[in-house]
Amino acid sequence: MQSNSLVEADRRHLIHPVAAYRAHEQRGATVLTSGKGMYLTDAAGNELLDAFAGLWCVNIGYGQESVVAAATEQMRRLPYATGYFSFASEPTIRLAEKLAELSPPGLDRVYFTLGGSDAIDSAIRFITHFYNVTGRPTKKQMIALDKGYHGSSSTGAGLTGLPVFHRAFDLPRAWQHHIPAPYPYRSPVGDDPQAIIDHSVAQLRAKVEALGAENVAAFFAEPVQGSAGVIVPPRGWLRAIRETCRELDILFVADEVITGFGRTGPMFACEAEQVSPDLMTIAKGLTAGYAPMGAVLMSEAVYAGIADGADPTTPIGHGGTYSGHPVSAAVGLEVLSLYLQGGILANGQARVPELAAGLDALRDHPLVGDVRQAGMLGGLELVSDKLRKTRFAPGLGIADRLSQAAYKRKLIFRAFGDGTIGLAPALSCNADEMSILLDRLRATLDDVLDQREVR
Ligand code: PMP
Repeated sequence: MQSNSLVEADRRHLIHPVAAYRAHEQRGATVLTSGKGMYLTDAAGNELLDAFAGLWCVNIGYGQESVVAAATEQMRRLPYATGYFSFASEPTIRLAEKLAELSPPGLDRVYFTLGGSDAIDSAIRFITHFYNVTGRPTKKQMIALDKGYHGSSSTGAGLTGLPVFHRAFDLPRAWQHHIPAPYPYRSPVGDDPQAIIDHSVAQLRAKVEALGAENVAAFFAEPVQGSAGVIVPPRGWLRAIRETCRELDILFVADEVITGFGRTGPMFACEAEQVSPDLMTIAKGLTAGYAPMGAVLMSEAVYAGIADGADPTTPIGHGGTYSGHPVSAAVGLEVLSLYLQGGILANGQARVPELAAGLDALRDHPLVGDVRQAGMLGGLELVSDKLRKTRFAPGLGIADRLSQAAYKRKLIFRAFGDGTIGLAPALSCNADEMSILLDRLRATLDDVLDQREVR
């Protein structure tokens, strides 16, 4: 009864993020009621294995009591402190200090946001401000990758390279540009890693040359393109791109909103290639989704350019009521402690070979075209014809079919519109849970293959 009235109220009042509103109203919400470890319970009483960590964020699993305690304690002591007027709170300062210590060398300045979209939006504002006050006001053009995701803020969504975030939103803006993604499975230059890297670097150079380096401010990229369907560039790509940006005198922004906090192995994906970006955006794993928070980290050079800009005594007009919220910061500190002292990052690493073996075993499945993995991030690109790498007809609704089949098997993953499955299990996952996850994944693929329309 309770659940029916909730579904009805949802239908009437709640506007969902990134949803087809009318299709959602027809389907009705799946109301989630509680979570413990890797499992979510819904209002119908189903216990669902969450192979997607909420939305690539609940890296510590559900129900971690020490995080609840840290939030409760901070709420009781000081639920809010503004960062305006030179006020600050202890957890916010401590978290900034900790992030400076854990992040790639040189990123010692931290600006807190509420999530990833406003981290990207803040990065855009900081970069614009930086060039304006350091005497290079023509540097306004920004470049990102096709299929990249950089959030849905009013300008950041233009750097996102996914059509649904542009269509009917008048995006991208004239100063926002894209180059093709380094996408090994569908690369026009074949699957040789170095050829893919060289091709991508050449495309960035060509774009900057076409725009004029004196007009280009920055290049934004995810080390692994999550929302593109977990596209993993060849090893060496990130470093080559970073070096190219330096050479072309444009800022490199690494968007580690998904890849940060051990998701691909090291604390940040940039570390795997000894890359220090000029700016880095983070969110999700920072608080493991237990409280909203993101951040922009920046180099001393960018910070100093802004700080010593036009008039060093005038406020830089960027900030929000909740920048550096003390409860989110207290949550972030406890989550970092669980990753490191609590061994959750190391635990996640122990699952990587198991995930790899499980995905590898699916290569022969008739639906699986490509298998991709970076640490505890997994992607399966499904196709209707393996030999020709043919995508499913759009009218087939492959993503809905996959999500519904998974739900029947009591599994949650991300099904992208093109038929790619994204996996991002919590790093706290144990070996039994990983094994159940992989069994349910295979069963789901078999169920979908059995559908007459798909076959
Ligand atoms: N950047 C990346 C790489 C992301 O994956 C996301 C969210 N999926 C964002 C930015 C936006 O973050 P948020 O949803 O917290 O605004």
